[in-house]
Amino acid sequence: MLPQYSGVSPKGDLILLRKLGEKLHGKSFLHVNSTRAGGGVAEILQRMVPILKELGIDARWEVIEGDERFFDITKKIHNAIQGSPEMITDDMWGHHYEINKKNAGRLNLEADAVLIHDPQPAALVEFKESGKWIWRCHIDVSNPVKEVCDYLMRYCSKYDAAVFSVARFARAMGIDEFIIPPSIDPLSEKNRELSDDEIRETMERLLVPPDKPVILQVSRFDRFKDPVGVIEAYKIVKKYNDCILVLAGSPATDDPEGEIVLNEVREYAAGDPDIYVLLLPPFSDKDINALQRISTVILQKSLKEGFGLTVSEGMWKGKPVIGGAVGGIPLQIVHGVTGFLVHSVEGAAFRIRQFLNNPDMATRMGERGREYVRNNFLITRQTRDYLSVWYSIENKGKSVLEL
Ligand code: UDP
Repeated sequence: MLPQYSGVSPKGDLILLRKLGEKLHGKSFLHVNSTRAGGGVAEILQRMVPILKELGIDARWEVIEGDERFFDITKKIHNAIQGSPEMITDDMWGHHYEINKKNAGRLNLEADAVLIHDPQPAALVEFKESGKWIWRCHIDVSNPVKEVCDYLMRYCSKYDAAVFSVARFARAMGIDEFIIPPSIDPLSEKNRELSDDEIRETMERLLVPPDKPVILQVSRFDRFKDPVGVIEAYKIVKKYNDCILVLAGSPATDDPEGEIVLNEVREYAAGDPDIYVLLLPPFSDKDINALQRISTVILQKSLKEGFGLTVSEGMWKGKPVIGGAVGGIPLQIVHGVTGFLVHSVEGAAFRIRQFLNNPDMATRMGERGREYVRNNFLITRQTRDYLSVWYSIENKGKSVLEL
């Protein structure tokens, strides 16, 4: 698999990746998160674990299990960390801890390095026995509800290190902190090149017509992704430009709010035959790939965003992308160079029209976007960064001459 990245990923990333693989060969690396499907974390892990194995690292991926109440609580914690006014009672934190404790009994947590993703399994650190433990925060912690964040940090500060996607999210935790933006896999089913036949077949099956410009947003049905704002922007555009809007999303097992938000979106979209709200089954990677490839403009109009993999996915396909100026989106969209950043419904509508009316500019930005992703946001770079962090904390205190 790794040789296939040659000619796609930057050469320097591949060389360093191999070198780190040699240094960490035979060691074990465990990832733990809270869902196998849906959302960016699962997306990356599916692809990264085989790469780590190919490098000779004994990589594993475990998923914690929880009851309905646990995932209701963790969604509230997630929302509070991203700034929604939620209160987490001691009883709720108690349940969060108990479920983590149960999972600690169920899972084999023995590894040389353990990477725990996001708040759901954060309390597993209480059951750490060996190895280096790293807390990986994927969400937007720029403006959290203080009490909730403080409580969570009681767990997080027990790790050996923390990793954030964006420098602005890092906070004084008293442990080593690193910045590692996420990434996409150019060879995955989600991002590989598709033939015209494959694209046509998908569009026929999804009943998306081929004859009008397509505006697309792919995301979980989550209010922070602002699907209603996307429809509002489309409605403004539609007064001047004929086009269709596709909102595509699938459920994530750790996101109990999805169905409520989906219903809100359906209600808001009702009556307009040019709005396609597509509820896709999990692992619809090829369908999403095809949707992104037939799109004229791709949106990720988030109000809060950890990183926003869909932005890099769109840019990799050479598409002009418009994103909310939040979280990790400005890392990917250099305003006016690789896409446009927006702060409002009106701003989004204005930029969509600009792309629809200037196809040459849209193509140029799309091309620059693709190269920007190649140099910064491919999985080979992210794997390299994880291994660098692991290697550096394992060798902390040693001089360069000893390494
Ligand atoms: N995704 C998917 N199906 C969906 C919605 C999203 O496969 O119905 C994928 C999307 O292509 C991207 C990831 O899930 O790879 C979402 O990551 P992002 O960082 O954009 O958002 P998150 O869901 O992690 O907040």
